[in-house]
Amino acid sequence: MSGTRILLIGPPGAGKGTQAIELSAAFGIPAISTGDIFRHNVKNETPLGLKAKAFMDAGDNVPDSLTNDLITDRLEDPDCSNGFLLDGYPRTPDQVRHLDEFLASHNTALDVVVQLVADPDVVVERLRLRATEQGRSDDNEAVVRHRLEVYQEQTAPLIDIFSSRNLVAPIDGIGEISDVTERIMNALAGRGITAS
Ligand code: ADP
Repeated sequence: MSGTRILLIGPPGAGKGTQAIELSAAFGIPAISTGDIFRHNVKNETPLGLKAKAFMDAGDNVPDSLTNDLITDRLEDPDCSNGFLLDGYPRTPDQVRHLDEFLASHNTALDVVVQLVADPDVVVERLRLRATEQGRSDDNEAVVRHRLEVYQEQTAPLIDIFSSRNLVAPIDGIGEISDVTERIMNALAGRGITAS
């Protein structure tokens, strides 16, 4: 398989969704956000959405089994055969195992894990703004704090797993959107990953 396979990892509010759009356009690959897919399902009151809603509103991870099935379905779509960017997945060690198996069974692998680094105080403030702009039901302060804890407990340890595979590019996520994109593109170029 050809193409570029990128993971974006970082705490809530680090700017993953914003950078996902930029990188998706630059590399011509779909940006897949499990959070967006879940929100879409909640909005449309699908069976998946009905199962996911309570977890999301509480700021907890949706159970791995649901999330893993969802991502397998999406990655099997034809538009992913030439690469993809995952935003918000994997979030737990079980999800890493699932993704590893999926990629291995499709004779492919990740190219890079972009770690967006942002100070907790900054992300809480960003999410406060987003709450007033977008009205996301999980952006109130108590839930935001809980999502940060869930990130620290369940997702931050994944950085070590990917670091041991030499896949992690840590990027300072603070600053202008275009500056952060440039930092990412430079780090990827340094690893020989360029948009052709
Ligand atoms: P953020 O990273 O800003 O918190 P997301 O849009 O990535 O926001 O996720 C919103 C919510 O969707 C999470 O709090 C969680 O409930 C659910 N979710 C998204 N991705 C996953 C995942 N990979 N595993 C489990 N739950 C997820």
